[in-house]
Amino acid sequence: MSTNTLDSVGAHEVVNPATEEIVTTVALASVADTDAAVARARAAWPAWRDVTPADRARLLRRFAAVVDTHLEELAALEVRNAGHPIGSARWEAGNVRDVLEYYSGAPERNFGKQIPVAGGVNVTFAEPLGVVGIIVPWNFPMPIAGWGFAPALAAGNTVVLKPAELTPLTAIRLGELALEAGLPEGVFTVLPGAGRVVGERLLTHPDVAKIVFTGSTAVGQHVMATCAASVKRVTLELGGKSANIVFADADLERAAAAAPGGVFDNAGQDCCARSRILVQRSVFDTFLSLLEPAVRAFRVGDPLAPDTDMGPLVSAAQLARVSGYVAEASVAFAGDAPSGPGFWFPPTVVLPASPNDRIVTEEVFGPVVAVLPFDDEADAVRIANDTLYGLSGSIWTRDVGRALRVARGVEAGNLSVNSNSSVRYSTPFGGFKRSGLGRELGPDALTAFTEVKNVFIATED
Ligand code: NAD
Repeated sequence: MSTNTLDSVGAHEVVNPATEEIVTTVALASVADTDAAVARARAAWPAWRDVTPADRARLLRRFAAVVDTHLEELAALEVRNAGHPIGSARWEAGNVRDVLEYYSGAPERNFGKQIPVAGGVNVTFAEPLGVVGIIVPWNFPMPIAGWGFAPALAAGNTVVLKPAELTPLTAIRLGELALEAGLPEGVFTVLPGAGRVVGERLLTHPDVAKIVFTGSTAVGQHVMATCAASVKRVTLELGGKSANIVFADADLERAAAAAPGGVFDNAGQDCCARSRILVQRSVFDTFLSLLEPAVRAFRVGDPLAPDTDMGPLVSAAQLARVSGYVAEASVAFAGDAPSGPGFWFPPTVVLPASPNDRIVTEEVFGPVVAVLPFDDEADAVRIANDTLYGLSGSIWTRDVGRALRVARGVEAGNLSVNSNSSVRYSTPFGGFKRSGLGRELGPDALTAFTEVKNVFIATED
């Protein structure tokens, strides 16, 4: 077992969650290391800001191309570090390449405005902020890092990225690949370390202009409060408790076949997991009878096997947490999982006794879904919104009017109709309520990494 002390400096043993073997040991940075990394990023910023847009675009394209030639290596590394199935890990590495390619189009299109006013003209500029600190969780180490660093770099900022303690390996490799692609020293630094050491120092450092934080709502609240002291900019991507709403008029076979993927992908360690399935009462039993074989068919096992749907949980602590929630719930049925070694938990369906059960209201972050009945459209929207979170969700119906009405009624940032899909790099992603603040991805994310400067030019003598 690991002897990690997660809020200290020193070294951290990285454990393969499928085998419990130690993969490697990673040094944890100190406050002094963090200060040195920020100083290098600050020193590199003026030159990076002044790189011509065409050259910055070229460097980002080259970074994407280098990632592309290392996709298999990055995916294999994530399988060992996070236990993700190889097919998912390949998608995650490809997503970093795609996001870099997408934002490589930005430097030459980061237009301001010209606004005619009395006596002259106003011109606006989208100015970079300076050093951006990016703090990411362990559940999707590659994509979540890329959603921050690609637009931040494209907009002319330098970046210090702190990966999660449990999953630093792909981030460290991406830092090396950035240098290989020709990004100047100090423009993109990866600094593994503890949240309460490196993370905390990034929040308080006077030369860090902005924090992009993805993680739990509790730590996100602390990030926002700490950054308030210096009015540091923040983007927050936090927890979720999303609803998968199935109406009686839906294609029930399709909805039931898709439901396991909507919550059990990445072993449910997904902020967008549809961890509450709301089913219209008239088809509740029919839907459950369709769901059961779909859950039992969800393949849990060796992450390197190409047909595996779900790997282990990330750590022993996460396994204990998920087991605790399920121990107090009424399980309707569950799939299979290996017994160990490794942090395995089967895909599990529970029927809550009350809408106030912890398993209905709290983010479990494991392969567990609660199924609840509803009566009509208004009831579905009410239950879907009966949560502090508002990140994601799905609506299954053949009635396009109902789909739009319910989508407008549900308080969440990313909804899908007749689909589980949550993320596309070219469209905005983020949460309502306690799921976060601000949006990542898509064209609008660039504005989160710039300040608007407004200059008046007098045209009259
Ligand atoms: P976490 O909040 O424990 O940690 C996230 C990151 O914050 C880690 O890098 C950690 O080291 C760092 N951190 C911890 N304490 C800190 C402090 N005091 N100051 C600065 N940094 C600190 O979250 P986690 O357990 O790694 O990830 C799971 C959570 O992330 C879930 O709640 C999940 O919903 C959320 N998440 C949200 C999104 C989204 O886009 N909305 C995406 C993925 C995960």
